[in-house]
Amino acid sequence: MDEKDCIFCKIIRKEIPATHIYEDEHVIAFLDIKPNNLGHSLVVPKEHFPNIYTTPDEVLSRLIAATKKVAIAVKKGVAADGINIANNNEPDAGQLVFHTHIHVIPRYKDDGYKHWPAKTNYTPEQMKEAAEKIKNALKN
Ligand code: 5GP
Ligand code: ZN
Repeated sequence: MDEKDCIFCKIIRKEIPATHIYEDEHVIAFLDIKPNNLGHSLVVPKEHFPNIYTTPDEVLSRLIAATKKVAIAVKKGVAADGINIANNNEPDAGQLVFHTHIHVIPRYKDDGYKHWPAKTNYTPEQMKEAAEKIKNALKN
């Protein structure tokens, strides 16, 4: 999907409405249309990149700095007990909008959301092998 059809680019260009909470030269943030909790926000670079893999480091630096600001404001604004920061990449990881973005999700002691279950059934050999493969991938 290119910038013309991208829903977040349309929000950035103000072609469609959103409940905006933050804007600077490079980043905007607005409320997620289907929030997990009230105040769930999306922090979005103004330039279109489909996912984290393709987003330049300087864009990500500005994005995470804005995310920190938004996270502190969301926590204060909706009196959250904690904040989850999430970034989904590719459909199998739950990405629905292919314009890189970060979720800021306010959390409450008894909100009932569960984290992923821990998977502890890998052998030490499997762990070591996976670590070696990742380290090799980092070299290339
Ligand atoms: P993803 O699954 O790609 O990480 O998250 C995309 C998020 O964008 C979803 O949580 C979804 O609710 C939100 N979203 C999708 N379309 C719109 C929209 O038109 N406006 C707003 N404010 N949020 C949207
Ligand atoms: Zn876009």
